[in-house]
Amino acid sequence: MAKYKITFDREACIGAIACVSVNPKYWLTAEDGKVDLKGAKKNKDGKWELIIGEEDFVINRDSAEVCPVLAIKVEKVEE
Ligand code: SF4
Repeated sequence: MAKYKITFDREACIGAIACVSVNPKYWLTAEDGKVDLKGAKKNKDGKWELIIGEEDFVINRDSAEVCPVLAIKVEKVEE
């Protein structure tokens, strides 16, 4: 099964919460008014990353599409 990588630029996030409303399984509101991606780890560029399976691609792609500042990217991981 294909794997996908979510990359979340938390610095860019303006706390519009659209991602949470379409996908509360992965996106949580945080105390600072932004959101957190559940289970993600910070990479060397200061962005948050999480690998997901194909079954969760669509809901996370939907989160990426509704984000007004394009803080979320979902791309296929080559195996
Ligand atoms: S939709 Fe984008 S700007 Fe809004 S909370 Fe989610 S990541 Fe942040």
